[in-house]
Amino acid sequence: MKEMIPPPPSSARAGRVWLIGAGPGDPDLLTLKAARVLRECDVWLVDDLVGPGILELAPPDTRIIRVGKRGGCRSTPQSFILRLMARYARHGRTVARVKGGDPFIFGRGGEEMAWLRERGITVDSVAGITAGLAAGSALGLPLTHRQTARGVTFVTAHTADGAQPQWQALAASGMTIVCYMGMSHPAALQDELLAAGFPASLPVAIVQRVSCPDQRHAITTLGDFATVVRATALASPAIIVLGDAVAHAGCAAAPDQPDIQAAGGMEQFSPAAHVLGALA
Ligand code: SAH
Repeated sequence: MKEMIPPPPSSARAGRVWLIGAGPGDPDLLTLKAARVLRECDVWLVDDLVGPGILELAPPDTRIIRVGKRGGCRSTPQSFILRLMARYARHGRTVARVKGGDPFIFGRGGEEMAWLRERGITVDSVAGITAGLAAGSALGLPLTHRQTARGVTFVTAHTADGAQPQWQALAASGMTIVCYMGMSHPAALQDELLAAGFPASLPVAIVQRVSCPDQRHAITTLGDFATVVRATALASPAIIVLGDAVAHAGCAAAPDQPDIQAAGGMEQFSPAAHVLGALA
């Protein structure tokens, strides 16, 4: 891939890179600092989980380059993204590497920062609201709770080397588990978690496209997780929250509500009574 880089507006200006967390999608969840820094950047390299509303904040002369690389889809090689950032910065540009959620939560922010610094390029980061935190708030679900969950752990079910989290240790920890990238093989994930000692009755929330207009969720138990994923067609990008804290979700409190909801309207899902019964 070749990228023609036009000359910088001022050849005297030193370029730099910002790794910017854009939050889970809703532009209202962007920090004020992210919005300010974004407007100062001439070039935006944008991941595909970044909400379209955020791109609308770009000043008219901003160069926006989409460099998404969703699992299983056509992707921009990471090495190309790194070289592109370096080239623009060396041409005096202020580059925004705009990432969904937070750049340092499953966002390769650490690798990119180290790579750029090794090459003498100035790089800083701006925190974003990670999808796991936003998922809790979207459902009125306290990820920690004084009676039931004394901590929270962010894990990914999908790693570059295929290694799994220490599920047994996590099962014994009693903490709320917030799982990223866990939707590709729901039945296998359910089996692994049950084998690691998580109980089948453990409350589970699945929240797809947190904070976006088409956000949907389901609340179930671990024993019914794969069945509910299949029945509701919930899919990536989604956050899976496991733990007793899920039973405190505001949206699960009223037993007469269905357990799957879509923003802008409710979707009836028949096992609701059973699922909510398990949470009562
Ligand atoms: N840096 C991001 C995570 C990127 S990893 C963050 O901090 O949020 C990609 C995974 O993040 C997806 O597979 C999904 O599990 C989760 N994710 C990202 N955005 C999401 C959203 N709006 N809704 C639900 N899950 C999301």
